[in-house]
Amino acid sequence: MTTLCEQLGELRGSPVRLLPWELPADGPFGMLISRDNEDVIIYQANTTKAHQAHIILHEIGHLISYDLAGERPAALSLRTCYSPAEERDAEVVASTIMRVALTVGRRAQRDGLEQPWRSSVYNSIVFDGG
Ligand SMILES: [Zn+2]
Repeated sequence: MTTLCEQLGELRGSPVRLLPWELPADGPFGMLISRDNEDVIIYQANTTKAHQAHIILHEIGHLISYDLAGERPAALSLRTCYSPAEERDAEVVASTIMRVALTVGRRAQRDGLEQPWRSSVYNSIVFDGG
């Protein structure tokens, strides 16, 4: 997730930072804070790695779908409430990244490759679809 956010930040031209936080159990698991010069993804510290990965991918999904739609939330906005369409878009992006990553990872394992991908290859697979 750290590498993904670093590379996404490079591609977008502004950093995407990850911040684990002990969020209240009855609130949202993740939040996206978009500022002028960076985007910060806050995610629940008190949960499993797999759940954290899903939370982070979901917030990345919001970021990427904003980029694809050519719109960006106002500076310094804290996003926890989204429309159903925005939530769907975020999940589509999150599950697409997860599916590609799992498929490539499984293939690499099957072929006995230790490194599933080089970052340049990974970038072109995941992000260069137009
Ligand atoms: Zn969401």
